[in-house]
Amino acid sequence: NLPDVIYFKDRESRFTRINKAHAKVFGLSDPAQAIGKTDFDFFTDEHAQQAFADEQEIIRTGQPILAKEEKETWPDGRETWVSTTKMPLRDATGNILGTFGVSRDVTERKQVEVEMQKAMKAAEEANRAKSEFLANISHELRTPMNAVIGLTELALATGLDSEQRRYLELVESSANSLLALINDILDFSEIDWRKFELESTPFSLAEAVDEALRPLSIQAYRKGLEMAYGVSPRIPSALLGAPVRLKQVLVNLVGNAIKFTKQGEVVVRAGLESQEAKAVGLHFTVADTGVGIPADKLEMIFEAFTQVDGSMTRRFEGSGLGLAICAELVGMMGGRIWVESELGKGSTFHFTVRLGRVEGAACPREEAPRDLLCGLPVLVVDDHAASREIVGEILRHLGMIPTLAESTETALAVIRSAQDSESPFRWALLDAQMPGGDGLSLAEQARRIPGFSPAILMMLPPHDAGREAARCRELGIKDYLTKPVRESELAEAMVRALDKSASAGEGHAQVRGSAQELGRVLRILLTENNEVSQVLVTRLLEKRGHEVVVAVDGVEALAALENTNTVGFDLALLDVQMPRMNGLEVTRAIREKELNTGRHLPILAMTALALGSEEEGCRAAGMDGYIAKPIRANDFFAMIQRVAAQPTGAGAAAESTRRAQGEPHHKPVFDKVRFLDRLGGDEMLGAEVVGMFLEECPKLMKGIRQAFAQQDASALERAAHALKGSLGDMVAFQAFDAARNFEQMAREGNLGNTGAGLAILESAIDRLMTELRRQEMKPA
Ligand code: ADP
Repeated sequence: NLPDVIYFKDRESRFTRINKAHAKVFGLSDPAQAIGKTDFDFFTDEHAQQAFADEQEIIRTGQPILAKEEKETWPDGRETWVSTTKMPLRDATGNILGTFGVSRDVTERKQVEVEMQKAMKAAEEANRAKSEFLANISHELRTPMNAVIGLTELALATGLDSEQRRYLELVESSANSLLALINDILDFSEIDWRKFELESTPFSLAEAVDEALRPLSIQAYRKGLEMAYGVSPRIPSALLGAPVRLKQVLVNLVGNAIKFTKQGEVVVRAGLESQEAKAVGLHFTVADTGVGIPADKLEMIFEAFTQVDGSMTRRFEGSGLGLAICAELVGMMGGRIWVESELGKGSTFHFTVRLGRVEGAACPREEAPRDLLCGLPVLVVDDHAASREIVGEILRHLGMIPTLAESTETALAVIRSAQDSESPFRWALLDAQMPGGDGLSLAEQARRIPGFSPAILMMLPPHDAGREAARCRELGIKDYLTKPVRESELAEAMVRALDKSASAGEGHAQVRGSAQELGRVLRILLTENNEVSQVLVTRLLEKRGHEVVVAVDGVEALAALENTNTVGFDLALLDVQMPRMNGLEVTRAIREKELNTGRHLPILAMTALALGSEEEGCRAAGMDGYIAKPIRANDFFAMIQRVAAQPTGAGAAAESTRRAQGEPHHKPVFDKVRFLDRLGGDEMLGAEVVGMFLEECPKLMKGIRQAFAQQDASALERAAHALKGSLGDMVAFQAFDAARNFEQMAREGNLGNTGAGLAILESAIDRLMTELRRQEMKPA
């Protein structure tokens, strides 16, 4: 009476006995009717064949088949499923007489499973279709949105009365919010669909953080918030990962922090959590002093389309997608995201990621300015604790000795007492905006302290830097930085300040070794792997009108020298201690090659090891001179003048032929010397002008493209003319020429040719923008 099927078979797989349940499955009224029959009498051949083979195998090997799920196919087309166990049937002495087995019908369970799989597949399909639809529709939406935004921008640039302007500005800002929303949705649907893969490229974390947050800092300061970010110096400077996505997470979190904070500060920190041979684990925090999040909503906000309070949407626009996107991205980067918050006090968002390490990457950031700045005392005055501390960390990392003061009074007291000490401050880094006496008035008061010596650097809020910079200039403060302060900029500004105070005493010697004095521009190959020394030496040389090409090590230097496409060099400056190939080896290689050409490239060694024996080594290797680091401008140029006065090298010869032929290519992309000359040598003003140009130029180009698209010759001529004017002001010869030609073509109504003209102009502008950025002629 067992409901399971039970049977016994002989060695030929003939039934010898079956139970009642089995007879019923076979449609027999009596189990005895099955005796002598085989599976071939009941099932399809296909099924019976398989069963027969299984049983013969059991008889041959004596091995049972346990709980095998089997499909049974019947002549009438039915399919059933059983879970079956088959065993050898033995007599008392162990001889195998046949087989016996038990099967349980699992057809129903199987059917449910199949249904479930079908349902799951359908659900996945539907979800995929939804995401695909979202992705497509978002793309479709973006195209007209770009037109709306672009045309609104253009319309805003025309003559409008104030009412029209106000309306259009509203259109512009609404269109921008709508586009941001569409972008969010697109992103989310793409992540959901797993359409994109994370890239893996080498990048610098400090730079990525800065790029992501600097634009937001303007927004923060404009709102009256303080903002600071610090990247732990323990984090390797070169990492492998998806900087674009990492920046997206930071922008989202910091954007939220600014949005939900009325007063106080937003502080971002990146720390090293773990470190292995091939990977690092990083931990970021974004802390604000804003409205906070109720405890019961702390997890919910990471879900898509959720906000703490639906009614807040009216107050704070947003889609509720930002954090869901962050959570997905962080997950894809092997980390997690969470938040701690206290209502009314603020929130701290945490997230972790795992990133790859770049093997054998040199860390110029870590070595950078040590030799110049190391061990020198500096005063930092800032009322915001987080900013003060982060600046302190940066300075300590640069090897300096910071003293932190939180107010004007403390600062004055500290300055007074340090004045008479063994080591007075070399720099005072002042926050321009402090309650109860700002940095500028502090500077004035400090100046009145007898014997006050530190170089003053002002830290300005980014949204107001222009105006504040003017005030700084009035007070005779030479240099400033915009907040949040960044390591590389701070180091450079400090080195610059040192350089200024050094060259201030030089008097007339300043022009020594300059292009004017020598009567020619020297083309100099500088090989130096220390970033700050690179900048410093390049600046020194460029200030005197020379042209500098930088190589970071010996191998690159040799490559630059061999590159026959470039004109030769008049002088090589070689750092002696370099990775891969040191200065002496490079020199030997150069001299060996020169045996064939009969030329002689003057080579000067630069070394921080001030040992007499070093100099002998340099000379023995074939160098012409030797400059000790830290470099003193006076000696440096005296040396350059001495070597440059020698019979000229092949480079100089090539240079003069090239000049004689008036090769057009030589027109500089941007003549910084003449540009600054026009501005009376005011570098800060220069940076401002360049800043304005960098903003204005893309707009002018847009106007040109627009006019070109509409084939409007007169608009094209006007736009090209305007651009040409700006380029002239910038002393940007190549681009100026391109714009002039383009204007000419437009004037002649020669629109057929302007396509090529436009391409030439675009590439000249590209080169100019790159050059301006490279020369760091952009405001901080
Ligand atoms: P939204 O685009 O609406 O800002 P998010 O997913 O970025 O979407 O955020 C979801 C919700 O989480 C926000 O609407 C807000 O209610 C809450 N939230 C996020 N960040 C903060 C923060 N720093 N302070 C307070 N609330 C926050």
